[in-house]
Amino acid sequence: MNNIYIWQTDIWRMLTQSQATRGHALLLKGRKGIGKLTFARNLAKSLLCEKPSTDTEACGSCPSCGWFEQEGHPDFRLVEPEALAALADEAMAETSSDAETNTEMVPGSAKGKKKPSKQIGVEQIRALTDLVHMSSHRNGYKIILIHPAETMNLAAANALLKNLEEPPPQTLFILVTHRPQSLLPTIRSRCRQITMPTPDLATAIAWLKQQGAKDPETSLAAAGYAPLAALEFDDDDYLTRHKTFIRQIGTPSGFNPILLAEEMQKFDLPTAVSWMQKWCYDLMSFRTTGKIRYHLPMLATIKSLVSEIDPRSLASYSRSLISTQRLARHPLNPRLFLEEMLLSYAMLIAPARSKYAD
Ligand SMILES: [Zn+2]
Repeated sequence: MNNIYIWQTDIWRMLTQSQATRGHALLLKGRKGIGKLTFARNLAKSLLCEKPSTDTEACGSCPSCGWFEQEGHPDFRLVEPEALAALADEAMAETSSDAETNTEMVPGSAKGKKKPSKQIGVEQIRALTDLVHMSSHRNGYKIILIHPAETMNLAAANALLKNLEEPPPQTLFILVTHRPQSLLPTIRSRCRQITMPTPDLATAIAWLKQQGAKDPETSLAAAGYAPLAALEFDDDDYLTRHKTFIRQIGTPSGFNPILLAEEMQKFDLPTAVSWMQKWCYDLMSFRTTGKIRYHLPMLATIKSLVSEIDPRSLASYSRSLISTQRLARHPLNPRLFLEEMLLSYAMLIAPARSKYAD
């Protein structure tokens, strides 16, 4: 199969077998970065295709496939938050992929523009009414892909629920989420729930090598073993920044929070906070289980650092990062925001610093 990730082939076969295996609503759930959305799009495209292959993959050349690729299929609708759509448009508009683009990841940051919503609103679900209640243009399926499903606000979720309770004929809803617990239980129970697989380590590494990844093992560990997310980590600028950041917070004697905050102030802040979260996760994890998850090449550093710092302070610092992460999208002053996070970290590792300073 050409377009289906190798770790998804079993699920693909099952869901394309017959309509009965899909029902009228699917909930594809699983961690970030394993290709759920791509799978959902491929599934929709193949179900709409007029000449699918023996593997039930879309042919890519019929009128239906053509419309799908042009984002204009009359029987298909992608429902996503405005902010995500705006981000996709920006990405399409960016012809160059300089390092600069990475530093401006917050959508709608242009001055004066109304910020695009990060939620799926009720009007977006209501707008589906025509599609849902008319017969399909091509005498086949009508497919609605909702992603990320957990961004539906309550009104939107309730409007969708009505559709799920009285499923319109020949219509398939595909909901994609990495936070199924944030969905209304009534929505979950109306869907056929599919847990999307994460590939095992060897499969993921082989796949990343095929994609030309420079350092599959490191990127994979940094991305929490989600291969598609790992590809993002394999970008040169990203890898260098990440390495510098980790090297600095992992070297108590030379750690300079003010300088690091200054260097990082134009970087995507939620990403910077998540790096710190993963680092602290490893510190905590090493303390309790002797194992780490994200920074395998730094095991020795983590070991010596953990032996010096107070476990209770570490736990409370890690907890504080949850609210730091919440604020990271809209800091009043990015540099001060980072300084605060890094100064607290510096205090946390202060015992290790004085040891190394001698
Ligand atoms: Zn086709």
